[in-house]
Amino acid sequence: MTLLRSARRALVLAAAVLLVAALPATALPEAADAGPLDRLRFADVQLLALNDFHGNLEPPGGSGGQIDGVPAGGAEYLATQLDLLSSEVRKRNTVTVAAGDLIGASPLLSAAFHDEPTIESLSLAGLDYASVGNHEFDEGAQELLRIQNGGCHPADGCADPAAPYEGADFQYLSANAFVSATGEPLLPPYAIERVAGVRIGFIGMTLEQTPQIVTQAGVAGLTFTDEVETANRYVAELQARGVETIVVLLHQGGTQAGGGGINDCSNLTGPIVEIAEGFSDAIDVVVSGHTHQAYNCVVDDKIVTSASSFGRLVTDIDLRISRRTGDVVSATAENVVVTRDVPADAEQTELIGRYRTLLGPIAGAQVGLTDTAITRAQETLFTSGTTTALGESALGNLIADAQLAAADDEQGAVAAFMNPGGVRADLDAGPVTYEEAFTVQPFNNYLTTLDLTGAQVQCLLEQQFVTGRTLYPSATVAYTVDPAGTTATAEDPCAGTRVVDASVTIGGAVVDPAATYRITVNSFLADGGDGFTVLAEGTNRVIGGLDVDALAAYLPDDTAIAVPATDRITVAG
Ligand SMILES: [Zn+2]
Repeated sequence: MTLLRSARRALVLAAAVLLVAALPATALPEAADAGPLDRLRFADVQLLALNDFHGNLEPPGGSGGQIDGVPAGGAEYLATQLDLLSSEVRKRNTVTVAAGDLIGASPLLSAAFHDEPTIESLSLAGLDYASVGNHEFDEGAQELLRIQNGGCHPADGCADPAAPYEGADFQYLSANAFVSATGEPLLPPYAIERVAGVRIGFIGMTLEQTPQIVTQAGVAGLTFTDEVETANRYVAELQARGVETIVVLLHQGGTQAGGGGINDCSNLTGPIVEIAEGFSDAIDVVVSGHTHQAYNCVVDDKIVTSASSFGRLVTDIDLRISRRTGDVVSATAENVVVTRDVPADAEQTELIGRYRTLLGPIAGAQVGLTDTAITRAQETLFTSGTTTALGESALGNLIADAQLAAADDEQGAVAAFMNPGGVRADLDAGPVTYEEAFTVQPFNNYLTTLDLTGAQVQCLLEQQFVTGRTLYPSATVAYTVDPAGTTATAEDPCAGTRVVDASVTIGGAVVDPAATYRITVNSFLADGGDGFTVLAEGTNRVIGGLDVDALAAYLPDDTAIAVPATDRITVAG
């Protein structure tokens, strides 16, 4: 114990020295160095922030487990790093927060137990407040309330009957998700925390478009409102209660179009920019997420950060708050890599081991074999002006083929389409286990086969350029895109000319606008997910098995998988 403590202290000191060296001249001094007079005038508060953890209790594999080539992530190391960052002097002045998608689209170890292991893990790691993200709604409002409050799953019971699920030790905040029937927020919109004698308001929100990107059953009975209007309304409420330091935890984000590093802000683009600009000036910090990007920005005088995904980064935010005004006088932020060169946290090791045992041997069963890695990396289809259209990926095509194979005989399906956002990891070379297949397809979506007319198929292909998402087509589909064509509008998705109608074939025959085609997609797309409203119009729906089972069944048992070519979409000219 003594040894570990002194080892930790040495690490903390080393980290502190590095931190001071790396910070700009305007940076805050460490709280411990503040003189007695400063402590009377100011409160120094630390926020530690993460986002988009997605149930990654174990270190994520492949490139998903790295930051700039450095192995990063894993709850055992995340817990230790959080502990080190909130060094002992300052521990009481630290609030740990998160910006949504902590659960959902998780590896099997967490998903098999409805993400209870992740909530337990983050509670142990000291998380205080989290906004909901879109994925917190994957299993619906009632399930989210259970995740918050505890109790066994209504259908699947307790993971461990001896230790029923106790709920989250942290508080989910959800300012812009309302129960439609009552008009009341589903969960508390904000919280006020007293830290070092000052009060800080935390507002939690998800993106307004959550209903468009979550399966319809997940958001049934809920209404989502505008991020800016909602936040500013609650800011007024907080200020009326005398709170001047205000932090928004927002599950919406952006991307550095300039390709900057984890602590850069190189040409930040995306919805977060307009939102941060629209936010009241009383908001000091915006912890953002959803895009799985790392950035460290100041937008409209507000600190705006995001810490990548999967617990690979933590944002360390230092606030100096005036005791007289209650407002922030200076602030700095730094994204810190959750490296694995620190001691594993013993509580997290125990938790992972306990759920590994409960998960049992099904997870390790081999369902396929591959000689080479099959990746989800999308090819670039074309670049036209400021638009870059991405195209096929080998793994995406493989999944589309698997879905068609699951539905062609029984349902008469002639084509399948898969959304790129639903392919969550690569397949590494070697044996493919059920657990690995689940990591690629973790949504528990059901295959849905439906009727589209040929005209609707053409329209669906045009809609790809409205949504900015190119679907992976099964091998039975071929078509040509025209980079010089026009993109349709959201109002009239059929109006575009990006796809050459006469080039669209299914099973080698040109698609006839008046004919009917049986098309297989996952239940998320069938509901119109990712903005594919044309699929929501499909008729004669038949629901099949789980998407992951279709993939597992399609992979050959003992011969290597034939990696699909990415030649289904061609570019004109
Ligand atoms: Zn998200």
